[in-house]
Amino acid sequence: MRFELILLGTNSALPAFGRFPSAQVLNVQENHYLIDCGEGAQIRMDEFRVRRHKIKQIFISHLHGDHIYGLIGFLSSLSLSDRTAPMDIFAPLGLEEIIRVQLKYAGGLSFPLRFHTTDTEQHRLIFENASIEVYSLPLVHRAPASGFLFKEKERPRSMKAEKIEAYHIPYSDIPAIKNGAGYKLPDGQFISNEELTWPPPAPRSYAYCSDTAYQEALVPLIQGVDLLYHESTFCEDKREQAALTGHSTAHQAATIAKMAGAGQLALGHYSSRYQNLEPFLKEARAVFPNTELGLDGKVFEVPLKKKL
Ligand SMILES: [Zn+2]
Ligand SMILES: [Zn+2]
Repeated sequence: MRFELILLGTNSALPAFGRFPSAQVLNVQENHYLIDCGEGAQIRMDEFRVRRHKIKQIFISHLHGDHIYGLIGFLSSLSLSDRTAPMDIFAPLGLEEIIRVQLKYAGGLSFPLRFHTTDTEQHRLIFENASIEVYSLPLVHRAPASGFLFKEKERPRSMKAEKIEAYHIPYSDIPAIKNGAGYKLPDGQFISNEELTWPPPAPRSYAYCSDTAYQEALVPLIQGVDLLYHESTFCEDKREQAALTGHSTAHQAATIAKMAGAGQLALGHYSSRYQNLEPFLKEARAVFPNTELGLDGKVFEVPLKKKL
């Protein structure tokens, strides 16, 4: 029951110091979601053993090149491997036009694209399947931008095997019990659901907040999130530049993580002016100790946890 984030690219603007532009894959129970697709994303997929064909949904935060210049190449590779399954792409207005123009002159794809325009001003449910819900997170940037909150759905309760035996419960009754029902014995005695089942593990969550200026409006939207990737393009020495360009510092990213009560913070989207990232870590950990540097190839796992 995996819930893990694989970082493919953690730099901003351009590839530098072994860091590629923004791209990452979230694996939730073997469903793979691509989040942003900067240049070189598919090279990183090969390198970090991410199976391209497993991706069925793509979430694009905004249309700056460092988040989309790998997309046409990625789609083209899927087409060359004769994919037929549709691809859903969630992105702000304009991406469909960009991609369709490229395809108009380069040739079509072997599979259909389904574009879904995200409203970058609203916090909304934009996608769901059997295991997760995805919400948009309005960001403050120089272009319309939306982060994404991935939330696992509550799982059914699990049966206590010894109770099935003890009460001779037929297998046909088990689905209802897992969903909260009790069980009536042939003599009329009622066995409560709590006695028959264990509660499910708590649902896990991940928030992607890039690119954005410091904004506390995010805090209530991501309250209690298990894993937060918050951009930290600069350190505090460039705080003014961060504000001017619609970006955050490591200190600000950590402040959001702390206010939101996040479980863990991953930094990323570093400016190419920084080769050494230790100052980012030091700055953020002073505010929010459970911070790690996001780096290309790094995997962040959110383990299953017991419900409180
Ligand atoms: Zn960017
Ligand atoms: Zn940007």
